[in-house]
Amino acid sequence: MFKKTSFLFLLALVFMLQPSATHPVAKATAQKSTSIDLRLLETTDLHADLINYDYYLSRENNRIGLVQTASLIRQARNEVKNSLLFDGGDHLKGNPLGEYLARIKGINKGKIHPVYRAFNHLKYDAIAIGNHEFNYGLKFLNTALKGAEMPAINANVISIKTNTPYFKPYVILKRKLEDQDGKKHDLNIGVISFMPTQIMKWDKSNLEGRVFPRPIVETAKEYVPIMKAEGADVVIALAHTGITDEPYHPDTEDAVYYLTKIPGIDAILSGHSHSVFPGPSYQKIANTDMKTGRINGKPIVMAGAFGSHLGIIDLNIKKVAGKWKVVNGISQVRPIADEKGKPLVQTDTQLYKLLMPEHKEMVKTINKLGH
Ligand SMILES: [Zn+2]
Repeated sequence: MFKKTSFLFLLALVFMLQPSATHPVAKATAQKSTSIDLRLLETTDLHADLINYDYYLSRENNRIGLVQTASLIRQARNEVKNSLLFDGGDHLKGNPLGEYLARIKGINKGKIHPVYRAFNHLKYDAIAIGNHEFNYGLKFLNTALKGAEMPAINANVISIKTNTPYFKPYVILKRKLEDQDGKKHDLNIGVISFMPTQIMKWDKSNLEGRVFPRPIVETAKEYVPIMKAEGADVVIALAHTGITDEPYHPDTEDAVYYLTKIPGIDAILSGHSHSVFPGPSYQKIANTDMKTGRINGKPIVMAGAFGSHLGIIDLNIKKVAGKWKVVNGISQVRPIADEKGKPLVQTDTQLYKLLMPEHKEMVKTINKLGH
């Protein structure tokens, strides 16, 4: 015989069990959207420091050198499914090797500048042109750039002759990215680049009558919607400019803070100041979260100089109402050496070998001059 109470109890139990057994699964499926993790890697202001060697003191220096940073690049790439590698500019000039290659040896037709040979080997996805790239004149730069297999971009240096950007202003990289479930998706990654307008002061004799600069922020505001209209799902700025929250001026050398306020820019790889972000030097910048490396909610990184650090931004991209949207971004820097100069990484021997000819030649030349 069925008692009324036990029947009700059973009924209640069935109702209680049913939702808890099936509902959460259905809910999870409905809520789950496609999610992609994309890691951005940055070197910046290398100033021709390819080898961990100080040519002034004629000795090894493990605080500098792309051959050291390259090990961090490999490691950071191995940790994730999707990554892109960029350089923030000022890579050709700044040490005796850069001087020797530009002023004594020269870059002859068909020869590849060792900086670009290194970039090609490490498979950089795009590079910024920094203000120091002008120091040896436009002819040298254009010849050297022929050896770069990746797009070299800048949007705010304008040719006087054509009144259009002297370089390719931006690029939209088509990449197949793997989502968290292992499915591949075609994404358009827009990359744009800027440099300080002070180039006309710093490189007057090389640039006067040939190019003129436009303010960084104004240029960005004009191009980001164009890139979006061209299908960019993500927009990354290779901003060869520093970070300050001082009141805005069109000719500011440090425009990053105001770039963060432009809708559509998802991440900023900065440079020029030879500093480190996130890091203590920027503690007082308004709306800055040092833990996540964000300013005004946008992820920013600045990877020191001379190869001292690798900059990393990890983006999470989700499909929202049929469109890809960056929903999260966190930045960090990884150093190649500790405070005492003790290396934290091993030298990338493959890259080291590739750069040996010019390095040996340079050391030999210095030794000859010294005796
Ligand atoms: Zn610079």
